[in-house]
Amino acid sequence: MKHGTVTGYNRHKCRCDGCKAARAAYDADYRARKRVARKSAKPRRRVHGTLNEYNNHRCRCPLCKAARAAYDKQYSIDTNRAAHRRKRRARLRASGDWRTQP
Ligand SMILES: [Zn+2]
Ligand SMILES: [Zn+2]
Repeated sequence: MKHGTVTGYNRHKCRCDGCKAARAAYDADYRARKRVARKSAKPRRRVHGTLNEYNNHRCRCPLCKAARAAYDKQYSIDTNRAAHRRKRRARLRASGDWRTQP
């Protein structure tokens, strides 16, 4: 059989330096390929056009910027309404107090 091959290590259970080195190289290569696969698979899980992407991944692509702009718009509408209600209540209360003053 040929030494210094993964086949020698796996099939013939040879543990000579050549076969061990071949197996180690194969393992390192396998791990590296897995690492690369994991890395390249990651971006596919990211969904653009979401606030999460904008905030947590600091993505500034047009889709994520639009998501952020939409959120900002909604948020400012909500806070404006709340501020308006607060102001109205405060004004009513103030005018009531003013009227009850002697
Ligand atoms: Zn061998
Ligand atoms: Zn994006």
